[in-house]
Amino acid sequence: MKKIFTCALLALLCTNAYSINKVQKNIAVGIMVDATSLELGSSKDFYVLDASNRKLKLTKGTVNVSRSAKGVKMKKYELSLPVKINPSNGIIFANSKPYQGYLKLIKSGNKINVVNILTIEDYVKGVLPKEIGSASGKEALKAQAVISRTYALSNLSRHAHQGFNVCATTHCQVYGGLSGEVHATDQAVRETQGEVLTYEGEFAQTLFHSNCGGRTDNPKYVWDWEKPYLKGVKCGYCRKAPYAKWEQEIDANLISKKLANNNIGKIKKIKIKGKTPAGAAKELEIIHSKGKTMLNAYKFRLAIDEYKIKSHTFDSIKVKGDKVYFKGKGYGHKFGLCQWGAKGMAEKGKTYKKILEHFYPKTKIKMVD
Ligand SMILES: [Zn+2]
Ligand SMILES: [Zn+2]
Repeated sequence: MKKIFTCALLALLCTNAYSINKVQKNIAVGIMVDATSLELGSSKDFYVLDASNRKLKLTKGTVNVSRSAKGVKMKKYELSLPVKINPSNGIIFANSKPYQGYLKLIKSGNKINVVNILTIEDYVKGVLPKEIGSASGKEALKAQAVISRTYALSNLSRHAHQGFNVCATTHCQVYGGLSGEVHATDQAVRETQGEVLTYEGEFAQTLFHSNCGGRTDNPKYVWDWEKPYLKGVKCGYCRKAPYAKWEQEIDANLISKKLANNNIGKIKKIKIKGKTPAGAAKELEIIHSKGKTMLNAYKFRLAIDEYKIKSHTFDSIKVKGDKVYFKGKGYGHKFGLCQWGAKGMAEKGKTYKKILEHFYPKTKIKMVD
């Protein structure tokens, strides 16, 4: 099956600044940040409109755009930023990737940010194939659609300083535009249209991860905040996930180098200090040539390599010569929904509502307009 991606969702922010009663229809997604040039295209004739209301009609095909002193250069024309790229009835392309809605080129110092503006529903269709893949079972896809929609709507100010709502990478949610869309995930979005997860009338913090290793965890051990619906639950549905158990060796010197800010010398031993009820390490004591250093285990994982060290649910950490051997369970931060667990529950016939209720107890599904 298609790999389920770990969404970094380093959702340190827990602001629910957006009310579920006043939801904007469109979302602005930063698809390219600090670009100097790009190739635009359209399946039909299209037009561009610049900041001084200059309108250019372009025939279908491609056109190169580059940053210039005044704004951007397109063919022989100089346009002032921001520039709106309207596909009329066609599909718009940026560097050969197709997008729903329209594009906007905005100023970012002496570079440009390329923003895709489209409906929230179309945005979620472009997220799902990237964040969970289409082979996960209809009910698991529907659960993911609800939490991806909720996540987007409750984090609309995350990139306000750059002129858009959310980015298209794991920092927010991976978004692939139209190129990634497939029938199964589109259907999951349609069947949950407008549904969001709430707690006491506010958007819930819908954290999710690839697989929990047996039990999900409480974010209070990492981020100093907690929510009544994110206390951690037993999962037991993700035992067949690719990284249900994993082993990884890493050069001790590389670890010291990555932790240079902590003044770590040659590593002699790494001790696991305390475990959460879900089995994750709380802290690590690193014994090295310059002394002893305590580090938060989750932050240690991120500092070293979150893709090699799959989780901070360590079974053992052994130092032998110049190598450190890690053994552990699960993939991701363990908070909120376990994607492989959701897939397992869907296979056992559970509905998306049951899946959401399991991983985010006490929350309610509500409709946004
Ligand atoms: Zn982002
Ligand atoms: Zn799980």
